[in-house]
Parts: sequence; C-alpha cells; structure tokens
Amino acid sequence: MRLVLLGAPGVGKGTQGDLLAAKFQRPKISTGDILREAVRNQTPMGVQAKACMDQGKLVPDAVVIGIVKDKLAEPVCAHGFVLDGFPRTVPQAEELAAMLKAKGLQLDRVVNVTVPRDDVVRRLTGRRSCPKCQAVFHIEFAPPKRAGFCDRCGAELMQRSDDTRETVENRLTVYENQTAPLIAYYRQRGLLSDINGAGTVEHVQQRIVELLSAHGVA
Ligand SMILES: [Zn+2]
Repeated sequence: MRLVLLGAPGVGKGTQGDLLAAKFQRPKISTGDILREAVRNQTPMGVQAKACMDQGKLVPDAVVIGIVKDKLAEPVCAHGFVLDGFPRTVPQAEELAAMLKAKGLQLDRVVNVTVPRDDVVRRLTGRRSCPKCQAVFHIEFAPPKRAGFCDRCGAELMQRSDDTRETVENRLTVYENQTAPLIAYYRQRGLLSDINGAGTVEHVQQRIVELLSAHGVA
C-alpha cells in the first residue's frame, strides 16, 4: 500500500493518516516528522535542513526530497507507506514517481481529503488552547465546561495567532494555490480520489477504507 494523503490545513488529514497507518500496519511518513528525525540523527540531509532552519529559511526542495528518499529506502517502508505532507509540488511528485520507479514500484492512490472551505474555517477559528497545560478545546465541537476557561487547570483559554480568521483564510488560499497543480497532476494520471472529509473521524476513515478496497489497494 503506497499512499499519498492530500488535504488543506484543518481537514483532519494527519489523524486519518495515523489511523490508516495503524490499521494497515504501514509507516506514516510525515515530512515534518522526518525533518525533525533527520536533524536529530544528524544525517547529511538533516544537517543541511538544520542549517536552513537556523537561518530562518525554508528547507529547499532538494533537501526535502533527499530526506524522503532516505526514508523510503529504509526496510520499514519496503511494504508500503502513507505519505503526509509530501509531495507538495509537481517537481516533488515527479521525484517520488522516479524513486518508486527505480524500485519497480508506483503509487497506489492519492487520497485528497476535502471539506468545504467554510467548514474548515469554522473548525480552525473555533479552536482555543490553554497556555498553561496545552489542552485544546473547540467553542463548537469540544467546548470547555465554563466558556473561555480550561477544564483541566482553570487558566483562561487563548486563540493561537495561527487560528485567527484572517490567518486561516490566508493559509487556505496559499494551500489551494500551491496544491492546485499537484492535484491536477495526479488527477490526469488517474491516481487521485477525492474523499469527503465532513463528519466524524470514524466516518471519514470508513470512506477512505472503502475507497481503497474498491481500488484493490487494501
Ligand atoms: Zn489548562
């Protein structure tokens, strides 16, 4: 099972990736996690990535690709993987296809989790977190017992600057502009499946599992 998960911030893609990885016992590869791991293990790519991050720069494509390449060469990925956060661009997708092709493999499916934009905005802007104990609430879906205060420690809840309406709208626009060519690339190759990300985590997971089964992937 070689899967790529796509989805805007706030659609629950990371959670779905964790569940799929656990269900099918395949590693979930998240680019953020890999970068942190490579830096910790001081691999050549990790050293380069750290140098960029220390200078406040974006980690270049070549470094991210190198890190993913190292990861996919590990025995743990021999029987498949769930990729989350990579590829982000068409050149990265082409590199991924080439890496797999070199091993006589290809991607099985690209699952694009979609939620109407207004719903994503509601999900993200409703989040409130506790600055003291890091507990996370949602004004609509997981409200604290006393509005505005943490259930666990009683501290006043805050909205992360990432979750304000303006920032959220901006992040979504950036994401859409960035990934539109990638989605078109996979759609043209018949690899892309859109999955409705509305509803409970369990429902969405069930839709993905059914889709994979319909494509003979799992
Ligand atoms: Zn708290």
